[in-house]
Amino acid sequence: MYDLIVIGAGPAGITAALYAARSNLKVATIEQGAPGGQMNNTADIENYPGFELISGPELSMKMYEPLDKMGVENIYGIVTTVEDKGDYKIVKTDDKTYETKTVIVATGSKHRLLGVPGEDTFSSRGVSYCAICDGAFFRDQDLLVVGGGDSAVEESVFLARLAKSVTIVHRRDELRAQKVLQDRAFANDKIKFIWDTVVKEIKGDDVKVKSVVFENVKTKEITEQEFGGIFIYVGLDPVSNMVSDLGITNEDGWIITDENMKTSIPGIFAVGDVRQKTFRQITTSVADGAVAAQNVYQYVIENS
Ligand code: FAD
Ligand code: NAP
Repeated sequence: MYDLIVIGAGPAGITAALYAARSNLKVATIEQGAPGGQMNNTADIENYPGFELISGPELSMKMYEPLDKMGVENIYGIVTTVEDKGDYKIVKTDDKTYETKTVIVATGSKHRLLGVPGEDTFSSRGVSYCAICDGAFFRDQDLLVVGGGDSAVEESVFLARLAKSVTIVHRRDELRAQKVLQDRAFANDKIKFIWDTVVKEIKGDDVKVKSVVFENVKTKEITEQEFGGIFIYVGLDPVSNMVSDLGITNEDGWIITDENMKTSIPGIFAVGDVRQKTFRQITTSVADGAVAAQNVYQYVIENS
């Protein structure tokens, strides 16, 4: 029986596990992929205190390495369900079952699909959701980035280092992204903008993407333009399927907690991007993890 199982080893889950282990709890993380979560999908992190500039994969490893030393058991697996048995919980992966006094859900979010014809057909054949993973395949090409948030704008700046040009298409006439990122994109000669416009269709041949059909939402004008690659950054959806039967999510699947990261089920906590909240950052995820671990400790002490 573990004191705590943390599902997901992004910045929120790693911090929760670290703090809980420092309180001498018996802790395991279960992670389905590379530790660090979404941090692995960004080249440059410039807003994590202590580092003027650090790559996402490097920060991931710096966060993750201490877990082992602190005695955290790091398990590889995809968690499929969490069951509440009152004073203990059952966590199931595709091939194993674990018992634990408490659970912290730290499963983050996944990129949202654009949902237009051609997106699925040309996924991995010119359509990508990760500039750091795929950007190098598109050297010296004309690229399109869809979206107007932090991800779209920040990743456009990254892509502009290697592409011939980057066009950002946004459905409104102003960006959602942080001012500092906007300024950087506006100052970059390689980055162009198409405003008030949505993607209607992605077209290509048998091999790869060739062009994109746009619609101007104000004039309704339809145009078509050629691109070598398309990067889609239109927001995130929660990864909370493993707790969807527990009644702890809102209608969109984000997990509802109080300020102590407690869900409505005693002993089940949630942290980081998977939580219903307004500001999703590495710093806010890390803070959630620390707060949750402290409350897990209190729960374990009071229920032992
Ligand atoms: P995540 O980082 O999403 O980690 C969740 C982990 O859970 C993943 O490792 C996943 O594999 C695992 N998992 C999910 N489901 C399961 C399951 N069923 N079983 C086992 N494991 C599971 N924030 C900043 O502050 N600065 C930045 O510069 C920045 N750049 C970004 C760039 C991009 C392109 C994106 C998409 C986000 C960026 N962010 C940035 C936001 C930041 O990455 C997130 O806020 C943060 O990573 C959230 O941490 P998390 O631990 O809650 O979730
Ligand atoms: P986001 O903030 O939700 O932005 C999504 C963007 O896509 C918005 O501009 C939205 O338009 C647009 N959009 C949504 N659906 C669309 C559709 N169907 N068609 C066309 N456009 C659509 O998502 P994100 O940029 O991925 O950021 C997610 C979280 O990670 C945020 O909390 C962000 O702060 C964080 N993050 C931080 C950093 C950083 O700190 N450097 C970097 C990346 C991400 P509207 O603006 O009109 O809604």
